[in-house]
Amino acid sequence: MTSNAFQIRFTDLVAQQKRILPAINNRIADVLSHGQYIMGPEVFELEENLGAFSGSKHVITCSSGTDALLMALMAMGVGPGDAVFTTPFSFVATAEVIALSGATPIFVDVKPDTFNMDPVCLEEAIISLISGGNHPLPKIKKIRELSPKGILPVDLFGLPADYDAINMIADKYNLAVLADAAQSFGATYRGKKACKSPQVAATSFFPSKPLGCYGDGGALFTDDDPLAERIKSLRVHGKGADKYDNIRIGVNGRLDTIQAAVLLEKLKVFEEENQKRNLVASQYQNSLGASFVTQCVAQDCTSAWAQFALVHSKRASIIDVLKNNGIPTAIYYPKPLHCQKAFSYLGYLPDDFPVSKKLSENIFNLPIHPYLKREHQENICDLIHSALN
Ligand SMILES: *Cc1c(COP(=O)(O)O)cnc(C)c1O
Repeated sequence: MTSNAFQIRFTDLVAQQKRILPAINNRIADVLSHGQYIMGPEVFELEENLGAFSGSKHVITCSSGTDALLMALMAMGVGPGDAVFTTPFSFVATAEVIALSGATPIFVDVKPDTFNMDPVCLEEAIISLISGGNHPLPKIKKIRELSPKGILPVDLFGLPADYDAINMIADKYNLAVLADAAQSFGATYRGKKACKSPQVAATSFFPSKPLGCYGDGGALFTDDDPLAERIKSLRVHGKGADKYDNIRIGVNGRLDTIQAAVLLEKLKVFEEENQKRNLVASQYQNSLGASFVTQCVAQDCTSAWAQFALVHSKRASIIDVLKNNGIPTAIYYPKPLHCQKAFSYLGYLPDDFPVSKKLSENIFNLPIHPYLKREHQENICDLIHSALN
């Protein structure tokens, strides 16, 4: 199967664990000895450290990235009769939470160079909903009764969306901005941590994300005091003065103390890992950038490089060559959300979002992690070049 004596992993959590295992074991042992498995001291220590890292006034950890998004929508008062604009080129959770809140997702295509929400399409979609126009809208009975409520841009593969343009449109039409920053923890937008740019940002600590725990986890970042208070209440069943005083309908959305303990140790090595991931990405760019469409990072932004993607019409044969040489690849995402059965009730056609559709047909993702060795990466690039010839 493989001609390589070594194993190249798509995401290498083994190498990272080898490095910090004693520290993680100590942290977990602390939790086992104090026994505060729910909302223990590590949860609050983590929130403080994440606040210092991000510069966000409020950090609210929670049970997953999906729950973070859902709680943010609930805290913003998004519900039935509301429209939330998002992109169809993302993981299902992005649009799923909009539907779960009772609101209607309205898809907006992405840009071919960043794979992130196209602000021009966003404004066209808003105008089409408010006063009519040519942008594709859901074919549902009550479409004319929906009121635009929010924008949910995605920082795809770790690259921040175009927040200056999106925030300007949000201000113009009085919409809230919730970022799906599940993949972009550690990225920067115009000199600040990316999660500072939208009104509120949701990240995920799923094991393979840039900052991952050993289970499910997530966090919300915001500078908005009342919004943070509502999210903290929602996280514990809509608690008021305490959890037996319930002032709103909430969820069980807490992060486990053991996961917070793991994250505290992983956060210590995060910035170094982030830089190494950026180095791997720039080496891919240098070697492959002339032959492939790759994600374009604006000069004053950085990506967290959760994924490194190539776009090429010969995707299948390149993946085959890599596979035959023991190199794992992935396809994020093979089917855009407007083509998923779960969203068929919106009545979209495949060609409604041509950029997303074309990306889903031609994109594939290469191994990327801080522990990818230079010579292994050169091997991957050589194989890809050979597959093109
Ligand atoms: C991973 C991911 C999520 C969901 O995060 P979970 O922690 O798995 O719930 C949401 N959106 C995007 C873009 C993701 O990549």
